[in-house]
Amino acid sequence: MRRRAELATLSDTPGALTRLFLSPAHKRAVSLVEGWMREAGLETHMDAIGNLVGQKGGGKKLLLGSHIDTVRDAGWYDGNFGVLAAIEAVQAAGDLPYGIEIIAFGDEEGVRFPQTLAGSRAVAGTFDPAALAGRDADGISMGEALAAFGGDSGAIAALARNPTDVLGYVELHIEQGPVLEAENLAVGIVTAINGASRFAVVVTGNAGHAGTVPMPMRRDALAAASEMVLAVEAVGRSTPDLVATVGALAVHPGAPNSVPGVVKFSIDVRAPADATRHEAVLAITNAFDRIAGSRNVDLSMTQTHDAPAVICASRLREQLAEAVKANGITPRFLPSGAGHDAMAIAELCPVAMLFVRCKGGISHTPEESITPEDAQTAIDVLVEFLRKFKTNDD
Ligand SMILES: [Zn+2]
Repeated sequence: MRRRAELATLSDTPGALTRLFLSPAHKRAVSLVEGWMREAGLETHMDAIGNLVGQKGGGKKLLLGSHIDTVRDAGWYDGNFGVLAAIEAVQAAGDLPYGIEIIAFGDEEGVRFPQTLAGSRAVAGTFDPAALAGRDADGISMGEALAAFGGDSGAIAALARNPTDVLGYVELHIEQGPVLEAENLAVGIVTAINGASRFAVVVTGNAGHAGTVPMPMRRDALAAASEMVLAVEAVGRSTPDLVATVGALAVHPGAPNSVPGVVKFSIDVRAPADATRHEAVLAITNAFDRIAGSRNVDLSMTQTHDAPAVICASRLREQLAEAVKANGITPRFLPSGAGHDAMAIAELCPVAMLFVRCKGGISHTPEESITPEDAQTAIDVLVEFLRKFKTNDD
């Protein structure tokens, strides 16, 4: 917790925690965490994409880690906790019969550049060099920022690990949701990182004078869209672990004396199983067609995002569950609604995640918090996991 407080002072903006990928604060964070990795007996280096890597032992390696970049005006635990907990656990676990690599990824939040997960994609061998041309709000490209940071664009491809050298990847992270708190559990085991579908919807009716167009003659785009929003909510409620949200909606012309002619809104659907998500999208589409037909409005629906779910490896999940039980806690399995570096690393090797209860389930704000007791429990679980860890070869 002391380290967490010290790390939280490294910010690009005074009075708030903002530590964007390849920024001066990110560089200082690399140095600070590198010192702690060395204290824990790890050999360290910063790699070509700006990841901080700490290694211990030879042979095949188990990867641990999370990210040390943050959103703007961030909390102190998102990402940072997972890195500090891994260092703490590796030090406490002592000598292990396999190699360890702790990676502090630099680009999980994707706040600065158009592309995200640069660090974990480089390690997984899926980094697209085209991302280096992406520019931040000041017009600085990722490639330029990386060079100034001490990275090396030309050496990124060589960061890809060989899958046969890697035993798996385990990430500790705050839950960023309210489930563990509601069930009074310090930790939980992630089943899958939810897949996500996003759509941009346009409903077109007829704009008109709110005083002169009789009700039966209207084609009110907002009244139709309102039914659609409720249909999205109903679909989301129909299946456990499925979530469906309309988070943005714009009404045109948007005046008190106008019948709405056009409404644009977003849909975000997430689920731990892709089949569930695809069925939900189909149910939403069918409901929209029916509503548009009965209200005589035009409908267009464009998919803007589609990411498959990442299933956490059952072999790692079960071993995490054993370690949770050994700490006197009933294993609770839950999906992750948010994205993580583990999504990218899943292209390389089996992945697993342990969630830690966070206060109020809130994240990405300075109010984000966990208790020292829960932090210790999470570390204890990871130590137990590391000591008992059975590789595929065992
Ligand atoms: Zn995070």
